[in-house]
Amino acid sequence: MPKPQILRSPAQLRDHGLVPPERVDALDEVARRYAVALPPALAALIDRGDARDPIARQFVPDACELEARPQELADPIGDDAHSPLPGIVHRYPDRVLLKLTQICAVYCRFCFRRETVGKPDALPRAALDAALDYIRSRAGIWEVILTGGDPLVLSAGRLREVMKALAAIDHVKVVRIHTRVPVAEPERISAELVRAMKAKGKAVYVAVHVNHPRELTAAARAAIARIADAGMPLLGQSVLLAGVNDTPEVMSALMRALVECRIKPYYLHHADLAPGTAHLRTDIETGQELMRALRGHASGLCQPTYVLDIPGGAGKSPIGPHYLERVGANGSARYVVEDFRGQRHHYPPPL
Ligand SMILES: *Cc1c(COP(=O)(O)O)cnc(C)c1O
Ligand code: SF4
Repeated sequence: MPKPQILRSPAQLRDHGLVPPERVDALDEVARRYAVALPPALAALIDRGDARDPIARQFVPDACELEARPQELADPIGDDAHSPLPGIVHRYPDRVLLKLTQICAVYCRFCFRRETVGKPDALPRAALDAALDYIRSRAGIWEVILTGGDPLVLSAGRLREVMKALAAIDHVKVVRIHTRVPVAEPERISAELVRAMKAKGKAVYVAVHVNHPRELTAAARAAIARIADAGMPLLGQSVLLAGVNDTPEVMSALMRALVECRIKPYYLHHADLAPGTAHLRTDIETGQELMRALRGHASGLCQPTYVLDIPGGAGKSPIGPHYLERVGANGSARYVVEDFRGQRHHYPPPL
């Protein structure tokens, strides 16, 4: 077996036994269209004998990716429509995304930004200055969310500089870092990088993207512990994916594993309409059933909010199951509420 390295082409994936030789040509076409990178920590998790391995499904390119559907969108959540200048997406009044880089440690095959990630350009200095000016000049911006790309692929020096600039903006109270690095390249989460993630006087939250409990290896757990021990609260973001985490067993194991790592599950995202990802999407009913299965059967700490990012850019809305219904006409109106076993109970009418 060749020595561990980041695998960036179908030929390298073949050399590591992750792609059959006869599929390399077809996958070269996928790789020309969408970025490929599989770091050793994740490659090591793949069971080569399992054609439906949930780690491989997320990261090893598949010829299906060239089959775009008419309802799929190059910019599924409408970032462009809300981007006043390069590097900034400002959809909600009190918070902005700041995209420092388009590079990620691993390229997820279902990525909603797959048309833009992987381009080898960090935000140029002048553009970063303009983005920071934009934030400085708008007192309504309470939170800055570093995303990309993955902000934790940046050097500690570069990250420290950005955090210092954000720390100096009075009205910014919260900085959130969205990342997959703790599971993709846990060794990158060094003491120096963790120090660089802090912003003096601000609450820094770290949202970690994890979709399968096996991603939380001992090394990943140690990396996450380094962040938690440094005092930064951790949130979990997962994407609901067909053949990866769309069963109650895997979903509850994932949520429990996150909580055990001191990560509070925050969002379970319905998979976005990114081009060539139909084979990885489920229907919304599947997600609602999974949420029902979690409720009451796993600790309240294990409950994320199931959300849909509305195609076109209207924002995120919760789409989980409902437990409360109002029945009867005006005079006899009352509520019926369902418990976690599916039993229905009456609740008195409104006052
Ligand atoms: C998802 C998103 C956010 C963050 O939304 P929260 O509900 O606060 O997690 C902020 N801005 C944009 C543009 C987003 O797409
Ligand atoms: S880490 Fe996030 S931004 Fe990067 S490819 Fe995966 S989903 Fe997309």
